[in-house]
Amino acid sequence: MSIEEKIKAGAKDLGFVAVGFTKPESPARYPDFVQWLKESKQAGMSYLAEERSLAARKDPRELLPSCQTIICLALPYLPVDPKGKEPGQGRIASYALERDYHQVVTEKLSLLVGKIREIYGQSFEHYACVDTSPILEKYYAQEAGLGWIGRNSLLINPDYGSWIFLSELLVSIEMTADQPFAYDGCGECQRCLQACPTQAILPNRTIDARRCLSYLTIENRGEISDDLKPSVRDWIFGCDICQNVCPANAAIAKRQRLKEQEPLFEAFPDLAASLTLSPQEFKQKYGDTPVWRAKYKGFRRNVAIAIGNSQQKSFIPLLEKQALSENDAVVLEAIQWALGQLKK
Ligand code: SF4
Ligand code: SF4
Repeated sequence: MSIEEKIKAGAKDLGFVAVGFTKPESPARYPDFVQWLKESKQAGMSYLAEERSLAARKDPRELLPSCQTIICLALPYLPVDPKGKEPGQGRIASYALERDYHQVVTEKLSLLVGKIREIYGQSFEHYACVDTSPILEKYYAQEAGLGWIGRNSLLINPDYGSWIFLSELLVSIEMTADQPFAYDGCGECQRCLQACPTQAILPNRTIDARRCLSYLTIENRGEISDDLKPSVRDWIFGCDICQNVCPANAAIAKRQRLKEQEPLFEAFPDLAASLTLSPQEFKQKYGDTPVWRAKYKGFRRNVAIAIGNSQQKSFIPLLEKQALSENDAVVLEAIQWALGQLKK
């Protein structure tokens, strides 16, 4: 077995379902990223345009000067069946039901470094990227043969679809690169573009974050504009729509949940209970999960909007009561909008 094969076997023992190697060349998609920034498609994520972010995205050796190989990895997660929801409940993006993937994947990469040390037999330098690092990870994943970048901008693996967490391990070891994934599995399909409630999907397979619910309900700390609030529908954290409609996801053959990925809360939280959570209850329920990222205020803003979209007038007394005691201006604005919708 070659070193590359041994590393792939070691990564698969840790639960990674796709592993590939590529070189730290400047990404061919970097100009698209710069253009995306020029058009302000990053919304409030101004850190993406900072000098360090740009330099590292242009050349990953900014993260690890001695880098000779990027090991690209995919860890699967299980999608929620979108059909099980009852009236009065909200939806949460599937990936967020589990323990925060930043922690889970970081722990696995740390174990993988130990395995590589044993396999390689020498010390080496490394840098682990789990989502938050400035690297164009979907580009490298495609270069390493893990899958193709779909029209919905996500990396799609032929066996596991887009229900995967990507990560990268930059190492100072020279390894044989895998062949890039050359096939465009989207073909003529346009389902994600047609299904996106806010037309956030752009023709060049990028997303306008200013319109995407995954940004608006998570990273965005302010109000959601009135023209987009109806499109939030019942999503109280993130959005799975462009993944749920994707035929590449319907054909996933091998799904299994790792023991450390058990859901930490129900798939469809009750909207009334979610609106009235105390800060302590919010931390207890969501503190170890990605939902924490939206913060107490952002989560309850989303819940109020989902209530406004529910068409259930029975929520009116609860909203009126909450409006009297609400201290946060963003949440109060969402509650008042919801009251206006339900009283129409
Ligand atoms: S996550 Fe939702 S809002 Fe964002 S692009 Fe996909 S379907 Fe559209
Ligand atoms: S829904 Fe169709 S076009 Fe969109 S990513 Fe999936 S296969 Fe590609």
